[in-house]
Amino acid sequence: MKSRSSRPKNVSKVRRDVAERLLRNGATIKSPKPDDLSAADHLASLGLIDFGLVQVVLCADPEDADFGRGHRNCAGRIVVAHDHEDSKAELCCPVCDRRIYPDHYDKRRLTELRPRVSRDGVTKYCQGLLAEVDPSFKAVAEGAYRLGLGGAEIFVCLIDFLTDGMYWSQTWAEMNPACFVAVNPNHARFGEGEWLTRVSLAELVCGEVVLRDALQTAAAKGRPRGPNMAVALFGKGPAHTVVEPQRPSPSGRQFVVEVGPNIVRVDGETVVPANAKPRHRVFRILWQWFLDDLRSERTPEQFRAWTIDRLIEELASQTGKRETDEGNVRSLINNLQNTIAESLKRKSGTPINREDIVQSCRDGYRINPFSVVARPFQPDLS
Ligand SMILES: [Zn+2]
Repeated sequence: MKSRSSRPKNVSKVRRDVAERLLRNGATIKSPKPDDLSAADHLASLGLIDFGLVQVVLCADPEDADFGRGHRNCAGRIVVAHDHEDSKAELCCPVCDRRIYPDHYDKRRLTELRPRVSRDGVTKYCQGLLAEVDPSFKAVAEGAYRLGLGGAEIFVCLIDFLTDGMYWSQTWAEMNPACFVAVNPNHARFGEGEWLTRVSLAELVCGEVVLRDALQTAAAKGRPRGPNMAVALFGKGPAHTVVEPQRPSPSGRQFVVEVGPNIVRVDGETVVPANAKPRHRVFRILWQWFLDDLRSERTPEQFRAWTIDRLIEELASQTGKRETDEGNVRSLINNLQNTIAESLKRKSGTPINREDIVQSCRDGYRINPFSVVARPFQPDLS
């Protein structure tokens, strides 16, 4: 990285580390500083992101008068809607299900900045940069472009948006001069190798890297030869949102799941109890979709994962109340995954991963089609 003083010509409006944090779709920036806010404005004016500022209260905040009423180390962050009124106050902690009264107990409100990366905006912005190098550049696949550079041909790949597997294979990268651009800098798990040219969108936006220079460097590099020709460079598929990585279960592991009117059992043990209504509601929605896929005779690979937006829509249609904050729904699902695994381990000692029942996929969530076995709910007759 060049130091600030070495790039006097390209005075940037945004610091690179700040831009990098904002270009992670679905990220949360707690108590944003003026730098974060002005950078968010700038990136939004370039069309790269849109963002929201939300007010949250903490379930367990030592500065609040209700500290100690719930778990003292609960990590729940509860969003308070802009139109929140005291009379309507009945919020629920997505982690411990405790009722939260944001207008009582002097509960401290914190601000969070939630950026969403605009795929269209990023694509347009990058196409603008490409046009400066070669106005007749061509899109050759989703997220992949071919352009001319001093009579030679070079590719630019927006790795977050690539869908054609060819472009993230090492073999292809070794055969073709290319520059890989990462929107979310954490997404790219680049292999070692001086031969690979990679830049982050943040570096381009901040002016730390000029695309034409990066392309010239890429074109001038030799191709490597190594024993690992078929190794994938990146995780496969488009990465657009910050989600837990997909971890497959050890093969052959099976869990019998029963979904009742207000509880969920795994291998006969209650893992979502009757008092955990929000968790139960989310589980039932995923369960219905799972059953639909089962009925349509899909293979496990084809079982659909549901985006957070789709889940929010479905929840709204069932409860008549729209959850305005996707972070709340994400924590609810994280909590669901953790509590299912923890309670099963505690009650029966069964080895289980947190993704064996509810699985996080790259584009959403689903009931894990590899390890879940459906069974009709057995009413408790005891
Ligand atoms: Zn809590």
